[in-house]
This record gives sequence, C-alpha cells and structure tokens, in this order.
Amino acid sequence: MHVLVLNAGSATLKFQVVHTDADRIASNTDQKLARGTIERIGGESVITVRGSDGVARRHVAPLRDVRAAVEWLVAWCTSAESGTGLTSRADLHAVGHRVVHGGESFARSVRITPEVTRVIEEMIEFAPLHNPHNLAGIHAAQRALGDGVPQVAVFDTAFHQTLPEHAYLYAIPYPLYRRHGVRRYGFHGTSHRSVAYRYRGLTGKDKGDVRIITLHLGNGCSACAIVGGESIDTSMGFTPLEGLVMGSRSGDIDPAVLDYIATKEGLSLPQVEALLNTQSGLLGISGLTNDMRDLLAEADEHDDRRAKLAIQLFCWRARKYIGAYLAAMGGADAIVFAGGIGENAPRIRAEILADFAWAGLRVDAVRNAALIGGAEGRFSTEDSRLEAWVVPTDEELLIARDTCRIVSASTGA
Ligand code: ADP
Repeated sequence: MHVLVLNAGSATLKFQVVHTDADRIASNTDQKLARGTIERIGGESVITVRGSDGVARRHVAPLRDVRAAVEWLVAWCTSAESGTGLTSRADLHAVGHRVVHGGESFARSVRITPEVTRVIEEMIEFAPLHNPHNLAGIHAAQRALGDGVPQVAVFDTAFHQTLPEHAYLYAIPYPLYRRHGVRRYGFHGTSHRSVAYRYRGLTGKDKGDVRIITLHLGNGCSACAIVGGESIDTSMGFTPLEGLVMGSRSGDIDPAVLDYIATKEGLSLPQVEALLNTQSGLLGISGLTNDMRDLLAEADEHDDRRAKLAIQLFCWRARKYIGAYLAAMGGADAIVFAGGIGENAPRIRAEILADFAWAGLRVDAVRNAALIGGAEGRFSTEDSRLEAWVVPTDEELLIARDTCRIVSASTGA
C-alpha cells in the first residue's frame, strides 16, 4: 500500500510517501518513496523534495493555501521526476495525517469520518495553532484524491490517554476539569510510541516487559515514562508548554509569574503566554538562539556565559525529570534519547546522564560519541544496570503503518 503521510502546519506542509504492508511492517522493510517540505504557503512557496534517489530538489511556486500545496505535491509524487514509480493519483492508496489534539476522544489512530473531523474541530479550542491546519490538510487531501481514498488521523495526544488520573489531573478545583477539560493531555505521543516500539525491536523485549523513559529532545522537548508499552506520565501538559526547557519554550514555571510579568512589563496575559512559548527556553536564557547546535558552538568558540547557562538549565531540567520518573516507576530498564538534540548531541546526553552511577548507569564515552546522524544503539557501559540508548524517532513511519493497519482492517485487504 502506498501511503501519503501529511503533517500540515500554519505555513508549512511536510509529507512522505511510504510503501508499506503487513509483511513489510513485520520485517521492518517499509520503503520511503519520497519526502519533502513545502514552506511559506500563502506566498512564493519554497518546496524541497527528495524522491527515491534521496537527492534534494528545490522548487518555487505560488501556493496560496494548503489545498494548493497538496495539489502540487500529489502532482509531483506522480511525476517522473519523483522517481516514486507512481504514475497516477490512483496509485496513492491512503492518507495518514498527523493531528495534534484528539482530546479525550481518541486513545488511538482512527479512520477519518465526518464525526472524526467534527471532534478535531471541537479540539481547536485546545490547540488553536495546530488543529485548524491539520483539518485543512484533511480537507485538501479529500479534495485532491477524492472521497474513495481512505484517510486516517494519528494524534499526538492519543498515546498519553493511558495516563492514570493522578498523573493527568492538575491539583486545581476538580470541576474545572469536568467543565472545561483542564487536564494534562501530553504531546509528542507518536514520537514516544515510535521510539518505544523500535526499542522493543532492537532489544527483543516483549511489550509487557518494557519499562523505559523516553526523552524526545528537538525544538520541542518532552519526557515520557513508559511501562508495559503504555505511557504512564509525560512532561507536557494541557499544552506543549509544560515540562522540559525547550528551544524557545520555558517549560515548567510558577503560574504566579504570569500575572507578575504582565503587570511589570505592561503586557496582556496572551502576550505573556506568547513570551513563554516563543522568547524563552534556550533562546530566552542565552539571548542568542533557540538552536542547540549553534549554542554549543557559541559556548565552545566564545566561551559565552549565557550560552553555557542555557545548556546547563536544559540538562538540569531533563535530569530532574528522569529522577522523578525513576522514582514514579520504581526504576526503569533504559533511558532512550530521540529528536534532533537527542540523536545528534552526545555532549548533551552525557551532561544529562552525568552522575547517574547511583542508579546503575554509566555512559560509555566512545559509544556515546559514535551515536549521531541517525545511528541507533546503546551507549551505557556493559555493566550498567540502567541502560542508555539512542533510538531515532520516525513519526512518519508510524503514521504510515497505523494508516495501513487501519485501512487494511476496515477493507479486509
Ligand atoms: P523538531 O522538534 O522541530 O522536529 P528536531 O527534532 O529537528 O526539531 O530538533 C531540532 C534541534 O536539534 C535543534 O535545537 C538543533 O540545533 C538540534 N540539533 C540538530 N543537530 C544537532 C547537532 N549535531 N548537535 C546539537 N544539536 C543538534
């Protein structure tokens, strides 16, 4: 089955075409036929695509909205330039969409029906920056490929629906949860699930035996405590703002600070919230950048004090979450790193895991240094009781596989 995977944002559309089926899933031999990103939708859009040869090609086209962007990419995917071997729209058999918020309605991926789109629309209230664009992607794909092509929604929140009440409730008046749905939902679920699944594949462990802490460290960062294949706690909450220090988000903060900053700086509460989302984290502390690679370079080349401080805060918060989850889970088998930073920055991994000998974890410096650029494996020493791993996340692959499973089950294919 050829699955088109779509991740539609405000001005960006990421896509992949994945060739998958039950046998390929079982043998981990799914094939990525094409992938790409369309940026600056709404103006002169910049399109970067890679076909089966892996070579990046750039195009520029005036794409006024997501619909035009999906039209463009469907035409490209079925063109000779793409090298996908697809020759007509009929060769795209299903579409899998990344949808950020599924609220409490979806604990797993689902085939998209009018009822499902209605719920995604309802959830706009919780994810105003994401769900509207995800919906636009769904409507655009329906238009481009027709109603006959099945579509599946894969939610960032779904994996965390297994959180117990004591982990997802805030200690605020209970009616606020009942009346308005104020609770911790958690995000990055597709990534944490993808990493946990691959970890099982690499270690040969059964789902029921796995107790791990996954750290997705990218522009957004989150930690997840996974027991028996289920998320039992995660660091992001009502929105993706809670938890770890991120590129430009503060993570955990005393909520009393919001009103105080608003008063002192003459800002509205939405402006303070925007400040916590876009001007804080690594960027806020360093005053330089939200990009960890640049920050590490700055710390090395200029010994910049605030660059070093930002890195220190980032690692300190991650360490505290690992410690908390180890206590909450009664110990774990492994700490697993993923995301742009988790997969590429051995120094950050080493700093986060420094002094974990008390928990039975020692970093093997040579193995750690070798795990970059998509490599996967263990980097704790042979005798470590608690292991450390890098397992690159592959959200698109998981979306393609979920789509394939759901569509095959419902069509009996
Ligand atoms: P997103 O969360 O948007 O998917 P990514 O997972 O791509 O983002 O992660 C982006 C982050 O990963 C950036 O902070 C970037 O600097 C960092 N990163 C990527 N490569 C490296 C590297 N070699 N060393 C340190 N950080 C890196």
